[in-house]
Amino acid sequence: MRKRAKLILLDVREKIAEHGVRLVVDRKPKCWIEYEHCDGYFKAPSKTRKGIMVVAIGKKRHVEYMWDLAHEVAHFRQWLRKDRLWSRYNRNEDLYYELEKKTEKEAERIFESWGFRASDRLKKRSKKYLKTLEE
Ligand SMILES: [Zn+2]
Repeated sequence: MRKRAKLILLDVREKIAEHGVRLVVDRKPKCWIEYEHCDGYFKAPSKTRKGIMVVAIGKKRHVEYMWDLAHEVAHFRQWLRKDRLWSRYNRNEDLYYELEKKTEKEAERIFESWGFRASDRLKKRSKKYLKTLEE
């Protein structure tokens, strides 16, 4: 793992822990949530249980999983600031595509704030992901 990626992971782990969220780095290429394959997920804490953020890093370039981490950090921030779309989505799953589109944009900004460059290749990967949600 690249040094910068490692430092960012440690930093994210520390910051989200302050809000009752645990970071899990999954060494497999994909992780599972409710029978679905994904690159990561975020579940906000509730009154009874801790939150969790998972990112799958197996068989990926470090910039790829850092982008995926940035995506989950974006969700974490949406939850923290009580983002309107995030709150609406939690009552209405039909808003998933809209939420993910917004989240990918936020992820790009977070990714760049970490000192990485959003290359054409990564932007293409992001578009491809959104495309899979369109159906
Ligand atoms: Zn998402």
